[in-house]
Parts: sequence; structure tokens; C-alpha cells
Amino acid sequence: MTKGNINVSVENIFPLIKKFLYSDHEIFLRELISNATDATLKLKHLTSIGEAQVEYGNPKIEVKIDKENKTLHIIDQGLGMTAEEVEKYINQVAFSGAEEFLEKYKDSAKDSGIIGHFGLGFYSAFMVASEVEIITKSYKDAPAVRWVCDGSPEFSLEEVDKTERGTEIILHISDDSTEFLEEYRIKELLTKYNKFMPVPIKFGTKTETIPLPEGAAEEAKPETVEVDNIINNPTPAWTKAPSELNEEDYKNFYHELYPMQFEEPLFNIHLNVDYPFNLTGILYFPKLGNNINIEKDKIQLYQNQVFVTDEVKGIVPDFLMLLRGVIDSPDIPLNVSRSYLQADGAVKKISSYITKKVADKMVSLINANREDYEQKWNDIKVVIEYGMISEEKFYEKSDKFALYPSTEGKSYLWEELMDKIKANQTDKDGNTVILYASNKDEQHAYIQTALDKGYEVLLLDSPIVPHLIQKLETTKEKIQFARVDADHINNLIKKDEPIIAKLTDGEKETLKKEVETAVNDSKFTVQLEDLDSQDTPFMITQPEFMRRMKDMQATGGGGGMFGMGAFPEMYNLVVNSNSELASEILKTENTEEKNAKIAYALDLAKLSQNLLKGKELTDFIAKSFSKLK
Ligand code: ADP
Ligand code: MG
Repeated sequence: MTKGNINVSVENIFPLIKKFLYSDHEIFLRELISNATDATLKLKHLTSIGEAQVEYGNPKIEVKIDKENKTLHIIDQGLGMTAEEVEKYINQVAFSGAEEFLEKYKDSAKDSGIIGHFGLGFYSAFMVASEVEIITKSYKDAPAVRWVCDGSPEFSLEEVDKTERGTEIILHISDDSTEFLEEYRIKELLTKYNKFMPVPIKFGTKTETIPLPEGAAEEAKPETVEVDNIINNPTPAWTKAPSELNEEDYKNFYHELYPMQFEEPLFNIHLNVDYPFNLTGILYFPKLGNNINIEKDKIQLYQNQVFVTDEVKGIVPDFLMLLRGVIDSPDIPLNVSRSYLQADGAVKKISSYITKKVADKMVSLINANREDYEQKWNDIKVVIEYGMISEEKFYEKSDKFALYPSTEGKSYLWEELMDKIKANQTDKDGNTVILYASNKDEQHAYIQTALDKGYEVLLLDSPIVPHLIQKLETTKEKIQFARVDADHINNLIKKDEPIIAKLTDGEKETLKKEVETAVNDSKFTVQLEDLDSQDTPFMITQPEFMRRMKDMQATGGGGGMFGMGAFPEMYNLVVNSNSELASEILKTENTEEKNAKIAYALDLAKLSQNLLKGKELTDFIAKSFSKLK
């Protein structure tokens, strides 16, 4: 038996480990199972190249609770360690790693409360154990050894009898960590961190029924057997080549990842790159609708099939956080804090790679089946639109896959839209005006008016549309968006014969004054227009800019961008000076009667813009009924 001192300059490293890493105690199991996995895969490699002359077999890792003795066991059949290797890897390497880590991060750990993810490795066992034993036998011809350490810098090392190759780690769980002697807790951890690790992990046994052979007697009872309870899937879909998988496999894997999700994903993107960095993964588009606030069931980040985190902010571009799935990369430096991660060059590259890959996938999806893509558009648009406003590279490619649907059920790519409307929808400044509605029901009357004039009306109803429009207007040449109820619509150049005004300028001036007096509301600016249609004598429009700013404020984007409070409500009351009603009002001699007509017409205009509410609406209805008498 050897006794010795672990060479360490930070005194009492173990209390430090406990203190600084308090909230993340549970990761000890992930670390120990990762080590067991490494040991197993290293042996696999050595046997495959003929370096180790042993049978690799079907090794597994076992996790076992011994409640009576208050121990937790992690047993592997990997390459094991000789006494010299224990000295070297456990006493020196592992310890210096832990020490270095603490030296480096104890300050930041104090500030941030805790470091999310780190590579304390083997010594993280001391966060939950008062004593740790290693019993290990190398695949090499050397005696088995037992190492024991109680958390002080002293350790003992002795030869023991152990005939099977591999390592057993025994944690004597300390009194304040007895939760890790509970089966449910260990199961929870195994499911969280080890669900897709590459070596089978056994935790207990389960009963399995052997199916009866065909033609068995009716009274025959099926036999049951106890089998290993394997908690992981060692070959998850993302580790396979896309050519090995069909649609069904992708869907099944989605449900394996998110057992509580019953809806099918719309489609998936298989990520697979080995240069200039390693990255695999599968991303899924869930059905999103107009929802941009999805938080649960996030993208999971793995490092060589070990779960690391589902806090992927900074690694995955923001807009893709609306997606689900897994990303696995050995190149992501996981042993550091979040702020470091975000500044890391490799992480930035990964982020832009994923963005590019998603853009490419969109192009191939729309090209492969446009109809299907159009049908799914409504459920994916928030991701695409969010990507367009937040990632320049994504925006640059978006003309190939971003759709602009119309209220009439057609869908255009940008170029197609321009071809369609350019000739017909130009304003006096030569801009192509893109008319859109944000709500088919609320803006029904305006949509109808625009359609009657032969204009195309888009249906842009996602909450980030105001931002998208802003982006398009600032990057595309000579275009201008206008909602159907905006004041722009009357600025469109009419190609038909010019409209001849029915009223003289003097009459118009009088009418304008009369309407202004009758309306008497500072929210409304009265405008007289010679319109060709007789259907809309009075119409309310909104200044496009003002309304859009209000919308942006509502979605949190442009809010306060001018350091202002809420934007005021502003409307135009457009009076069609060519309408019969206009002449009628002008002709009415009795002031009371005249004002009543104006008030009634204004109510109707408000009604069609959904602005008539509360008492005003009640009064209007009463007034209308009494007119029927
Ligand atoms: P890391 O895994 O990052 O190398 P650890 O502190 O987790 O750091 O482990 C230190 C070293 O101890 C490992 O590199 C390995 O050589 C050795 N080791 C730990 N656990 C095992 C095990 N179960 N079987 C064989 N060697 C092990
Ligand atoms: Mg390790």
C-alpha cells in the first residue's frame, strides 16, 4: 500500500469545489459517465488497430445505488488503469485540471453565481462524496489497484483482487447529498445528460415478457425474464448519415427528443460538417403559427453525445432558437462561461454555418415542392422573417425562399411580386407601392376597395412584419409598403381617364370647413379627394408611418426609438368630393340636419375601421334603429 500526498498548491481544494460549483452539483454523474465512456471507446480504438490484444465484446456502463452502504457505483469495462496510470492521470493530471480551473474561475464564479458548464472532470465527484474509491484493472497485464481519497490532499493506493478489466468508481455519498442515493434522482440525471451517449448504460433491470411461440397451447403462460434496463439510445439519428434515414426515422427521433410533443414537425434539417469544424445535428421546424414566444423544448446542445445545455443563446442565431432539435460538436469549448462562449470565434463560425445551412434547405424545399412549401409557410414564416431582419447573410438569400402571400390565396417570391404589381401600382414619386393587410377581417372593406381597383393585396400578419417591411424598404430599390387602410392608396397613379372634379375649389373649401366643424376632433385631419368610386363617400385612413411605429412599439422592436412615449392616434378623414353625399351635404341648408348627416357618415366610416366602440357604438345603433321607424 502506498500513501501519498496529491501535489496541490491550492490548499483545501475540496471545500472550494463544493462552494463554487454549488448549483451544478449534479453534473458529477455526467463527468464520471463521460470518463467511463471515454475509457470504453479508447479500448475499442486500441483493439481495432490491434494495439490491445483483448476481446472488446459488448461493453456497457453500469450505474448502481447501494442504499445501505450509502454508495453510488459507476462501473465500466473500458481500458482501466495501472497503478502508474492512476498516479499520473488521477493524482496529477486530473488534479491539476481541477486546480487550474478553480484558480481561473473562482472570481468569475463568485460574480455570476456559478459557471454553467465546466470540465472539472473526475474531481467533481467530491462535490457529492465524502470519500471516493477507484478500483481499476488495466487491459494490460498488470495487477488491479484500489485508490482511495477522502477529499484531503492525501490518498492511498494498493493492489487488490479484481479480475475483470475496467474501472469501478465508488462514491461514498456525503450526508448533504443523499438525494443522489434516490433512484428517481439518478434516473432523472441519466435521462437528462446521458440519453444519447454512445455506450449502453445499465441502470437496474426490468421484466420482459417472452412472446409465446406460434401455435402454443391456449393455456400456456408467457414466461418473463429479467433483463438489463438500458437507459440510453447509443446511436441517435443525428449520428447517422442522412442517406440511412427516412422521414419516419426523423419523426421518431423528434418524439424521442421531445416525448411531450405530440404534433409532428413540419420538416427537418440534417447538419453534417467536418471542415473547418466538426458539427452534426438535426433541426426541426415545429408548427409555429404567429407565435414568437416559444420557450420550452429548446434546442439541445451535445458534445460527443453528452448533453451539455439547452441554453443555446449565442451559439445558435436568435431566430433559430424558435426551432427544436440537437446540435453536437466536439469543437464547442464547453468548459467555460457563457460570455466567453459568445465571443468565441469557433462558436461564431458555427452560428453562421447553421444560418447558411438553413437558408440552403429553404431553397431546396421550395424548389422541390412549391405547393407543399406554400402550405407550410404560415407555420414557418416567423422563423424566416425573424431571420431576415436579424441575420444579414440570411436576408441576402431570402429572395429565393421568402414568400409574400396575397389575401386571395396566391403566394409570390419577391421577383414574382414585382413582376405582378410594378406596372399597376406606382405612386407619384415612381415608387412601386406594395399594398398589404394585416388582418383580413378587420380591414375587409379596405381590401375590397383595393381589389376592386385591380390592386394586389398581400396578407402580412405575423407580429414582426413592421420590422420586416422597414428592412425591405431600406434595402430594395424604389418600393414603398402601405397598409390597405393607409393614406397612400389614393396616391397611386390612376392610369384610367383623369377624374373630373364635380365641385369647384370654392365649394370644396366650404365643405371641408363644414366637415371640420361638425367632426370637431383633433385626432382627425379632414382631406377632400376627388375619387372615382361612388361607394365610399367618407373613409378613414391612417398615416402609414405613424401606424407602423405604433405597431413596432407593440412588438417591442422600434419602441422608444426616438426616446418618445406612446405614439399619438392620428387619422385622416377622407371625404370624397365627387360623391353624391358630398354634394348632398353641401346642398343641405339646415345646419342641424347637415351636421347630423356628417356625424352619421363619420360613424359609418369609423365602423368600417373598427373604431366605433362603447357608448358611441350604442348611440349609433339606437340612432340607426330610430331611422327605420
Ligand atoms: P478528462 O476526462 O478531461 O481527461 P478527468 O478529470 O475527467 O479529465 O479524468 C482524468 C483522467 O483520468 C482521464 O483523462 C483518464 O486518463 C483517467 N480516467 C478517469 N476515469 C477513468 C475511467 N473510468 N477509466 C480509465 N481512465 C479514467
Ligand atoms: Mg473527464
